[in-house]
This record gives sequence, structure tokens and C-alpha cells, in this order.
Amino acid sequence: MHVYSSPLTTRFRGLDSREGVLLRGPAGWGEFSPFWEYDDAEALAWWRAAREACDDGWPPPVRTRVPVNVTVPATTPERAHAIVTASGGCTTAKVKVAERGQDVGEEIARLEAVRDALGSAGRIRVDANGAWDVPTALDRLRHLDRAAGGLEYVEQPCPDVAGLAAVRRATHVPVAADESIRRAEDPYAVVRAEAADVVVLKVQPLGGVRACLELAERIGLPVVVSSALESSVGLAAGVALAAALPDLPHACGLATSQLLARDVVPDPLLPVDGHLEVRRPEPDADSLAATDAGSVDPARAQAWRDRVARVERLAAEGAA
Ligand SMILES: [Mg+2]
Repeated sequence: MHVYSSPLTTRFRGLDSREGVLLRGPAGWGEFSPFWEYDDAEALAWWRAAREACDDGWPPPVRTRVPVNVTVPATTPERAHAIVTASGGCTTAKVKVAERGQDVGEEIARLEAVRDALGSAGRIRVDANGAWDVPTALDRLRHLDRAAGGLEYVEQPCPDVAGLAAVRRATHVPVAADESIRRAEDPYAVVRAEAADVVVLKVQPLGGVRACLELAERIGLPVVVSSALESSVGLAAGVALAAALPDLPHACGLATSQLLARDVVPDPLLPVDGHLEVRRPEPDADSLAATDAGSVDPARAQAWRDRVARVERLAAEGAA
């Protein structure tokens, strides 16, 4: 078991660094990195995803590379432009909106900068992380759709399924469900309410690649696979899911190794021509040493080992 820690190049989800546990099993390396606000019960799905990677590996791919989007945080237009330009050929950009303390003018300027950097053929999606109520969403989307020169979709405009459905009925901008799938009691509520055009699936919070493939089949909507800001060991599971889906009409949110100052493998999953190659990079001794959380903060590394022990016990109780 290796506890890793890497500084983030841009602050994300209020975090300055990303941490997690790497495990090795007969089928290869797996990552267990639930955010700390998740309790042990919620971390259980993340554990199942890690065990699947270590013990079973993943179903065979149907494609050799996966299109990915560049992620633009709630930053200045200048920096947004530079991030898209340096993205490794991504032709789709996901832009964070609805950031606390920012107004619509800042969002418009950011989207115009992203459109300028992408060119007219690029696709732009926005992610509100459930921050808007329905009237705010409809008002913002009118401005943002115009500023972007047309939006590919809006991700999670409102917190609840009813809100998503209301927005979807009242605008021509397609709606994607993210939090409403991955942190919901019932991921199929989105389908019953006809609340989304697209669903975002993340391997760790949904319990592994096979669990996601099954969910995708039952939901029957186009899927965008996204990361939980993992290292390249965890990202490889997302790539495996994207590579195994029968249809993949949208770019995936898996180009997030760029957000880590140091990855846990010598050859991180980084986009070339806007795609990630379908492969499974492995840590080596140097990359493990460079990301070793224990050498920076031994107490923190121990907290991770304790967390693994608790979740492992929960998993065993569930299986018994
Ligand atoms: Mg999202």
C-alpha cells in the first residue's frame, strides 16, 4: 500500500493537493482516493473500484483512444485562454461556472476567451455543480449560450432532479446529470423524470468499471466518463470504462493529470491530439518516492491506512 500526495497546479474543490492510496493486486494497480468529506459507508464504492482494478482488471476495450476535454476552472479570461491553448489538442472545453463571488460578466468573458482559443469548430460545455435554482439557470444559460457561440450542454445546473427536468424543458441547451447520478439514492430517477440528455459517470464513486457499464446500459443515455481528479492509476480505470462503452459521442473528462504537479507514474495519461491512449501506466520506484505522502506528513499517511482498514472491514461485513 502506497499513500500518495501531489500538489494541485490549480485549486480545485477547495483543495490544494490530491491524496489517495495505491494498491497492487494480481491484475495490476488500483487507486482508492475518496475525498475526506465522504464517510466510510460512502467510500465503500470507491473501495470496490480499487479492488476491481487490483483483483479482476477491466473488460476489453472497443477503441484504442478516448477523446477528452480540457477543464477550465473559474479563472480569468487570459488564463482560461492559455489553458485551452496548452491542452494537448483538446477540441472540447468544460468551463466551470456558478463560482461563488463571480458574476455573469466574468463568466461571459471566460466563455468568450475559451471560444476564441478553441475556434469555431470546438465544443464548449459548462458545469454549474448544482449551484443554480431554475430561474437563475434559465437566465444564465441565455447569456452563456450566446457568449459560447452555442453550448454542447450544461452539467448539473440545479441540485435536484426536478430542477434538471424543468431546465431541460425550458431551454434548447442539452442538460447533463452528474451529482444526480453519482451521489443519488436512485440514479434512475433522472431517466424517469426525463431530466437529462447526457449522464456523467465516474468510476470510483460508482463502484468500478463493470458497475458503470451496467448503469450505462440501464440508463440508455449518452455517457461522459469523468475523473474524480485521480492520479494516472485511477484515471486508467476511467479510460478503461470509456474504451469499453459501445458508443462514445462526447469527449470525456479524463484529462485531469495536468492538474497534478506530480503524477504517480513516469508516463502519465496526458492528451495527444485531444485523445488519451487506452493504456494502463504503472508506478515505478522513482515516481512512488516522489509522491510519497509519508515522507511529507506521516500522520496523514497513517490516517489513510486507518481509513483503508475501516473500509476494508465494512466491505468484509457486507460480503459476509
Ligand atoms: Mg460535474
